[in-house]
Amino acid sequence: VICKFFMPTKVFLGKDCIIDNAAQLQALGKKAFVVTGRSSAKANGSLASVEAALRASKIAYSVFDRILSNPSIELVREAAKVAKEEGADFIIGIGGGSPMDAAKAIAVLAANEIDDTVLFSGPYPQPVLPIVAVPTTAGTGSEVTQYSILSDDRLQTKSSIANEAIFPQIAFLDASYTQHLPVHVTINTAIDALSHAIEGYLSAKATNISSMLAAESMTMLGKCVKVLAGKVDFAVREQLLYASMLAGMVIAHTGTTALHSMGYSLTYFKDIDHGRANGLLMYQYLEFISMEHPSIVAKIVSLLGMENLGELKNCLDRLLGDKELISASEIQQFSAKAIQAKNIVNTIRRPSQEDLAGIIERSFCG
Ligand code: NAP
Ligand code: ZN
Repeated sequence: VICKFFMPTKVFLGKDCIIDNAAQLQALGKKAFVVTGRSSAKANGSLASVEAALRASKIAYSVFDRILSNPSIELVREAAKVAKEEGADFIIGIGGGSPMDAAKAIAVLAANEIDDTVLFSGPYPQPVLPIVAVPTTAGTGSEVTQYSILSDDRLQTKSSIANEAIFPQIAFLDASYTQHLPVHVTINTAIDALSHAIEGYLSAKATNISSMLAAESMTMLGKCVKVLAGKVDFAVREQLLYASMLAGMVIAHTGTTALHSMGYSLTYFKDIDHGRANGLLMYQYLEFISMEHPSIVAKIVSLLGMENLGELKNCLDRLLGDKELISASEIQQFSAKAIQAKNIVNTIRRPSQEDLAGIIERSFCG
């Protein structure tokens, strides 16, 4: 075998795909536990669509609407306790990456009495509850990945579960719910998808299939990012959601790389949104890779429909606006954390901690 491809999620795409395929839920159980953030799922219609589909399929349900961004291990444990008390047969995560990732961890913990070490390493003694994902941001691709990223206060970073048992069984992608995303969430999540496609293309684990998906995703995202600062019409919303799903399929095979490792520290310690954190570091990361692998970076630039890396830099600078301030001691602390991350080994030009410190410094102080 020279390449493995595994993507067990049944994906439905398009307007009204939830209600049109409500019968798909019947095989998953009689009681659903619906997991959302505090308010967006109620405001954008996604929760109402899921509730209508559950009613149409005569499935009982309860809603847990307290997932915060970058959910912690404690929060998913608390939600899993409720899911267990409710007797849930399956879990539906609606929202951005935070509620979808929380839903995955809840599906593990509602069926398994395990400590944090086993939660992150597996294997799990009992089968994980089936998971349904409804993305309402176009960025993480979590609807088609085996990852759940949780804030880990013991390790002071974001830690990931990577386990095939948490691939969603079903993903419903309806861009209608993303239509009123705030501008900054649209931008940050699109950049997250872009970083998945780019990092997947540059990963030591890239395969022919993952690179084909990454290339398609970059081609679409390259066009989309040029129009993100203005009003984003529905056709572009659909492309963003589709491209972010493709990029999710990419990282499901390739993992992320040093760019995400560094980004996790910016999110954990400075509360910078996940996609924005990647975007702030992206240009300098590509410069670093380009020094050893110029042709592959040139290929990325051309797939994005851009003239050179400088054009990508200008585009990112425009979208991201003023940068946060960062101190010399923070740069040391973040690079020390990042170099220990699991995904460092996927980086085709293996960085030292000094290399990472240099990328962070040039990104913020350049
Ligand atoms: P998010 O934290 O899920 O959501 C960000 C904000 O957007 C929240 O305030 C949310 O409000 C709001 N929001 C969501 N959908 C909306 C909509 N349709 N309209 C208006 N507002 C909406 O952000 P995210 O960037 O999607 O996810 C980030 C998380 O995903 C991070 O923890 C990251 O590490 C993880 N991630 C996971 C993977 C993976 O493969 N599993 C990959 C990349 C990133 P509410 O709170 O009210 O819902
Ligand atoms: Zn990401």
